[in-house]
Amino acid sequence: MNTWLEISRSAIQKSVSNYRAIAPNSGFFAVVKSNAYGHGLKQLLEILMPLYSSGEVSGLAVNAIFEAVQLREWGYAGPVLIMGRNQDSDYARIPEQEREFHIVLSTVDDILALHSVRPSLPFHLKVDTGMSRLGAHDEALARVLQYLSENPDLPWRGLMTHFANVEDVMDQGYGRLQYARFAKAMEEAGAIHRAGFQGSLICHSAASAPAMLLPESRQDWIRVGISLYGFWASSSTRLSAKMVLAEMPEFRPALSWKARVVHINPVAEGVDVGYGCTYRTTAPTTIAVIPVGYYEGYDRSLSNRSHVLIRGRRAPLLGRVCMNMIMVDVTSIPECAPGDVATLIGSDGGESVTADELADLAGTINYEVVTRIEPGIPRIIVD
Ligand SMILES: *Cc1c(COP(=O)(O)O)cnc(C)c1O
Repeated sequence: MNTWLEISRSAIQKSVSNYRAIAPNSGFFAVVKSNAYGHGLKQLLEILMPLYSSGEVSGLAVNAIFEAVQLREWGYAGPVLIMGRNQDSDYARIPEQEREFHIVLSTVDDILALHSVRPSLPFHLKVDTGMSRLGAHDEALARVLQYLSENPDLPWRGLMTHFANVEDVMDQGYGRLQYARFAKAMEEAGAIHRAGFQGSLICHSAASAPAMLLPESRQDWIRVGISLYGFWASSSTRLSAKMVLAEMPEFRPALSWKARVVHINPVAEGVDVGYGCTYRTTAPTTIAVIPVGYYEGYDRSLSNRSHVLIRGRRAPLLGRVCMNMIMVDVTSIPECAPGDVATLIGSDGGESVTADELADLAGTINYEVVTRIEPGIPRIIVD
């Protein structure tokens, strides 16, 4: 095994308990779409299952039906919120006895399509309050609510929305506007639901950042993704949290990415390194080759920019990121030898390289850095 991820169980547990303290009255839904943000769906399920049994986690949320089916096959029996718009033809892949897949729908046509294949599956109506992605607004919302009021036998269970701009700002004006629109929809939908449907209408809107920064968004459920994995949704979310929360939660990234040095190549001064010859040595240099490239999810825009950690020291990337390899400068780490562990994300000795740091260097966000790590790389649960 020349590259692998280590997933810290205790870091995930800490994130869940942070949110239990922030939103004690909301059911915690762990968002595990996209291979659990690259951390490994199977590994996350293994970590979350005891928390589901103890009641700290109320359910899981995914994008696609195949992810929900996979969770069942691995033995998870609780609720799964399916948030993406799946193909109608995929509904037939849901086992007929299934009653705890909660499907997010936006239109009357969506409801009819689900109803014709799996009439007993609960669904949540999505309201578009300003994201302009899925969900109904204005006349379309009025239409679907009218339809629901006329069809009280449908298994309508929830009402939801999603915030567009909480992570990117210090001023939550847009988030409050979205919440106000959602509040109006909750009022209208709630009246219809109470009049004809069984049980209470489950309302939810918050992802990681809104659950921290917009107290009103901590409703029946919160849907926590990025911060479950120990990340702040953004640096402005962290700054804002200092002002909003009585106590600052501590998050620790759960993921570390390791690889073994596979080759040492001492070269002279004035030697070109990598595709495009974008780096030329300015002194005799020892190059270590690490078997991870952009195929494995190490962003090519990190070429000549990032560092890895070897023997507790920083080794800078030399030249371009290749498809399956990178070259790093270990001249100042003379003991470095094939088989040494290089840390691409994580800590070694006193040094650390974070996904946040790589995201800044690559011009993207921590979400993308971790989600893109190739799913076939082994994920190992530690601590
Ligand atoms: C992905 C997603 C979330 C989780 O968002 P984070 O910012 O990662 O917490 C919540 N709700 C919906 C609808 C999503 O698509």
